[in-house]
Amino acid sequence: LPSEFIDARKVLQVIEQNGFEAYFVGGSVRDTLLNLPIHDVDMATSAYPAEIKKFFKRTIDTGIEHGTVTVMFDHKGFEITTFRTESGYQDFRRPDKVTFIRSLKEDLKRRDFTINAFAMKENGEVIDLFNGMEDLQHHLIRAVGDANQRFNEDALRMMRAVRFGSQLNFKIEEKTFAAIKANCQLLKKIAIERINVEFIKMMLGISPSQGLQEILGTDLFEYVPFFNQYLSELKHLANLDLSNHLTNEIQVWSLLAFELNLKQSQIRKMMKLWKCSNKMTENVLQVVKGIKMLQNKQIVSLFIYQIGLNNLLNANHVMEIYGLNQGEEELENAFNSLPIKQKAELNVNGGSLIKAGFKPGPQLGKVLNDLELMVINGEVENDQITLINKAKELANEN
Ligand code: ATP
Ligand code: MG
Repeated sequence: LPSEFIDARKVLQVIEQNGFEAYFVGGSVRDTLLNLPIHDVDMATSAYPAEIKKFFKRTIDTGIEHGTVTVMFDHKGFEITTFRTESGYQDFRRPDKVTFIRSLKEDLKRRDFTINAFAMKENGEVIDLFNGMEDLQHHLIRAVGDANQRFNEDALRMMRAVRFGSQLNFKIEEKTFAAIKANCQLLKKIAIERINVEFIKMMLGISPSQGLQEILGTDLFEYVPFFNQYLSELKHLANLDLSNHLTNEIQVWSLLAFELNLKQSQIRKMMKLWKCSNKMTENVLQVVKGIKMLQNKQIVSLFIYQIGLNNLLNANHVMEIYGLNQGEEELENAFNSLPIKQKAELNVNGGSLIKAGFKPGPQLGKVLNDLELMVINGEVENDQITLINKAKELANEN
């Protein structure tokens, strides 16, 4: 058993000693069977929250209405959720009602895909009620039960199918795929923020090209923000070898902006529709600038100053896809040899110029900007006396 399970086992054992069932469930079991590193350890139990709270000295009501309690054990927290069924789903997302139950099978039945519906006992014994093991071996994402019905209950599962497909490099099983295609319009019911999370996880998986092809092949792309006008561009993107190039969300949006050939205003529009933060958008605008610079195969001091080292390296990661990247060290050196890395490093500021006799006002701001540019371009030394003299010169010219 992976080390993450060692402490958690004791929690399962305590619950069993009290006469109830308790298991590891969800992604951690799947990833253990695939020999992949695990993120969070989810546990499920037949004991109701009130019962769990009796078995342990310290507990926290983390999501008590959904049956989730955090148990404190050996100074660590463990989330444990009571077996439950979900019903309602009148809005194609999130159930109207959860009901606590005693049956493991009923709990596993509500889970999305067979490979996510394993349970594992504290001794490592795997319970596989939906042939998940076979799908694991055949590298398939298959809905638990009737795919059509499952996507009608919760349309986000369609994006999750594509996401797990890319993360694991698994294919979506035929009937599951057909059901996505038949129900793709239900994605309209899902909050963009949740679609965004799955989309980014997909793009950062090991097979994003496959994921994109599935988003296109199932017609899901028509129901995600912004993309429906860009079919041919997305097809082109889906045919690139994207594996192992993208390492963060900034790079994902920057690649899209570049491939869709978007102007600044369109980049802003895309990112607004996808509900990205302003910070993310500003980063992407800089990275796209960096991409264009690398595409022209020249390094411009002013650009690398404006773009910043992080986003320059992000741009370089994206350009790796096209073989147009530069050595990281080369870029780091170029950045590090800039005379200044940010405006605060300029050896004059408003205050020092006013002391030297300048009047406050917009003129002063313009002089400072000009000095900054000249220092970056290596036209003037970043030295206070030199800069003040230059400032006087500039003021006289105007
Ligand atoms: P990750 O490694 O990304 O955390 P995960 O499989 O743990 O993958 P989670 O989103 O953390 O995915 O969900 C935990 C488990 O809860 C899933 O494995 C699945 O059994 C179940 N689950 C989560 N979301 C849904 C959903 N929308 N519909 C049905 N079951 C779901
Ligand atoms: Mg998880």
